[in-house]
Amino acid sequence: MRAVIVIGTWAFSLANADVCSEWFRGSGLKAGLRCVEKCMLLPTGMANYFCPEQCKSLCSGAKCDSSQRWVEAFHQDAYRVGNGKVVPAKDVPGHCEKTTPADKTWIAKLLDGKPSTWRPGEKVSKWTAEQRERVLAALREIPDFLKDPNIFGIFRMKDSETPNNPASSDYSDIVLYDRAFSDKENLTQVLEHEMAHRLFDKLPKSEQDDFRNVGQWEENPQKPGTFLRGREKGGFVRENDMANPEEDFADGIVTFLNDPEKLKRTAPRVYRWMKDHYGSVSRGKK
Ligand SMILES: [Zn+2]
Repeated sequence: MRAVIVIGTWAFSLANADVCSEWFRGSGLKAGLRCVEKCMLLPTGMANYFCPEQCKSLCSGAKCDSSQRWVEAFHQDAYRVGNGKVVPAKDVPGHCEKTTPADKTWIAKLLDGKPSTWRPGEKVSKWTAEQRERVLAALREIPDFLKDPNIFGIFRMKDSETPNNPASSDYSDIVLYDRAFSDKENLTQVLEHEMAHRLFDKLPKSEQDDFRNVGQWEENPQKPGTFLRGREKGGFVRENDMANPEEDFADGIVTFLNDPEKLKRTAPRVYRWMKDHYGSVSRGKK
C-alpha cells in the first residue's frame, strides 16, 4: 500500500488531497495541540486509508481559510521574473497562501508523468514545492490571451532530446525540463513561448497567413506547408526564430511582452502586427 502512495502521480496526490481534506474536516479536528497525533488515529476505510500519511500537512492546512491553501516550507533560489527583474533567494516557511480560482485551475494541471503520446527517449521528473510555486507565480504574470484553459497539462521531465531546450509542447500539453528552472532560463518567458505555439496553432488560417506574410515567410514550392525565410538574419531577435514561422511567432510574442523596444528595433513589421493584435497587454518597458 505504501508503494502506491510513493509512485502515485501528483495529479493522483491532488485528488487524494481532496479526499483527505474531506476526511480531516469530517473529523472536526482543529489545528493545534496534538492535532497530528489525534489525526493519525482517525478511522479510515478503503477510500481514504492513505490519509494518515498527510496528517502533518492537514493539521497545518487547518489554519488556512477556504480561500487559501497550505504551502509546505521550501528553499527558493533566486530567479528572474518575465521582464528580467531578480527575485532574491529566500527560505519560504510553511504558510497559508491565498488561492484564486485561476490558481486552482492551473494547480490541477501540474501533472506528474508525461503526455500520453510523448517521445519515448525522455525521462519523467518530479515536481518540487519550489517549482510548483515558481510556475504558479509565472502564470500570474502571463496575460490571459496566452493562457488557454484547455491546455491539458504541464508536465515535469528531466532533459530534452534537443540540447539546451528548456521546454516543449504538443499543443495540448507543455513539458518543462530541468533546464527551465535553471538560472540559464526565464521560466515566465519559457512558458509564454510554449503557450504562443498553441495560440498560433489555434489562429484562423487567414491570420496565420497574415502573420507569415508580415514576417516575410514564403511557402517552399518544393515542400508545400513549409516556409522559407524571406527577411535578413538581423531581423530576428535570436537564432531560434529563424527556423520557421511558428518559432518567429512564439519568440515574437515573448519579446513583445517583455522587451517591446527590442522587437520594434529588430523586427518592426512583426512588432506592428503584435501591437495591432495584442497591443494593450504588453507589460515590458515601452
Ligand atoms: Zn518553440
